[in-house]
Amino acid sequence: MEARKEISLYLKELRLPTINQAVDEVLLRAQKESLSFDEYLLDLLKQECLARKNNRVERYLKESGLPLEKSFATFDLSRIGQAIINQISTLRNSSFLDRKENILAFGSPGSGKTHLLCALGQELIYKSRKIVFFTCSILVQRLLIAKRDLRLPNYLKKLAAYDAIIIDDIGYVQQSRQEMEVLFSLLAHCYERTSIMLTSNLAFSKWEEIFKDPMVTAAAIDRLVHHSIILELNLPSYRLEYSKKQKEKGGDKEKESVVS
Ligand code: ADP
Ligand code: MG
Repeated sequence: MEARKEISLYLKELRLPTINQAVDEVLLRAQKESLSFDEYLLDLLKQECLARKNNRVERYLKESGLPLEKSFATFDLSRIGQAIINQISTLRNSSFLDRKENILAFGSPGSGKTHLLCALGQELIYKSRKIVFFTCSILVQRLLIAKRDLRLPNYLKKLAAYDAIIIDDIGYVQQSRQEMEVLFSLLAHCYERTSIMLTSNLAFSKWEEIFKDPMVTAAAIDRLVHHSIILELNLPSYRLEYSKKQKEKGGDKEKESVVS
């Protein structure tokens, strides 16, 4: 068999599709530019790795459930103050995930907690980290369904395989004891195993409203806080400010589309 055909078969068997596609073009270039064998091979391997990384990032983004429009590109960092900007720039290097640290974002409604953690989540995916996003109420429903179907341990294991779980708006709606029990199971399971990134409008002092029982509340806070970075966004509502600005401009239409 002709060598080129044989190479193609081996590349298929080894699952190296990008090299298979690029091999002729790179060979031509190698001849033209008199690349060494090392340089030729390096070029092919780089292309394969880059294509794999891009595919992986695309897959992770799709699987994450993140609202992708909430990115750093659309986030006005100047609003959040230098101290938090510094915290965020450290978090963007992703090493907190290796230390299984949690990020707890507090602040009043509209201060930008959800947008900020989603932007961070998206950036971490670009660094090939696996992140998943849930609103707290949807996550609780999923956990309850898994419990009902006797697959809660499996589901917890699956969730803990992510580098971080974003739980948006914990405590936003009053939940029943059963709902809070499964949420607590998740927090306990993830402790020192996978990072939790959560947003809440409620300060810890009000968390008994979420977990009902004072002991469970204390245990949940203890596990979350032990290795954590707390972001306090004590800011006026972005939505409110935006709508005021629109009003000043007489732009009532835009106002309605932003206030959600
Ligand atoms: P929170 O979760 O604190 O209630 P959100 O993150 O949902 O607030 O922000 C409310 C709205 O304002 C969203 O549409 C968000 O995209 C926008 N927003 C908040 N802060 C900023 C910011 N610093 N730059 C750009 N948009 C922002
Ligand atoms: Mg929010």
